[in-house]
Amino acid sequence: MADSSPNSSIAPSNDPHSNEVLAALGALLKAVQEMNPAHARPIPPHPVRFNLLSRPSRSAQTCRICNFPGHHGDSIHYAGACKAAMVSMVGFWEDIAAHLALLYREHQLFQTAIKNNKPTYDMRLDNAPAIAGNMETVLVGRLTRSYLKFQSHCSGLRPKLLHILSEGDKHRYCAITNTLNDFLLNGSTLTELFERSLAERQ
Ligand SMILES: [Zn+2]
Repeated sequence: MADSSPNSSIAPSNDPHSNEVLAALGALLKAVQEMNPAHARPIPPHPVRFNLLSRPSRSAQTCRICNFPGHHGDSIHYAGACKAAMVSMVGFWEDIAAHLALLYREHQLFQTAIKNNKPTYDMRLDNAPAIAGNMETVLVGRLTRSYLKFQSHCSGLRPKLLHILSEGDKHRYCAITNTLNDFLLNGSTLTELFERSLAERQ
C-alpha cells in the first residue's frame, strides 16, 4: 500500500518500516499520549477497550467496589459496571499486546528496547520518574509503568475479581497477564518485582 500523503513527516518515502510497523507505533504513541492528563479523553459511560487507569484519579472519583474511576457501584452482587470496567481494561491491554508482538517481531529498535527494559515495583506509581531515550525506549517504559499500575490495581482487587468476572473473562485476564509479563516485565510477575524490591532494601 503506497503512502498517499507526500507531506507525512513520520513516513518519508525511504523509511524502512512497513506500514504495519508505523501503524503499531502510532497506536502505542496514542495510548501513551492518553497517559498525559492534558491529553486524556474523558472516561466514556460505557468504556470498551479503554484504559481507565491512564491518569491519576482521586479516591472520590473511584468506585468503592472495584476502585476504577468512571462509575460508582453499590454492591458486589450487582457489579455490572465494575465488570464492564475490568473487561474494558483487559481489552485495552489485549490491543496493546498485539502491537507489542508485531513490533517485537518486525522492528529491531523496539525489540532492543524490550530486551533492555528494567521494570521495578516502584514503576507502578503515578509519580514514578519518566524514562529517557529514543522513542521506542520511552514507549516501552511508559507502557511498563501503566501495565504495572493495572497489575497492582488487580492485585488489590483479587478476591473481588473472582466474583466480578465470568470464567471466560478470568481466562482472558490470565492470558493477557502472562503475555504482558513476558513483554514488559522480562517474564517476572508483580509479586516477584515486589519481593526483589524488598530484598534490595535490606
Ligand atoms: Zn466498580
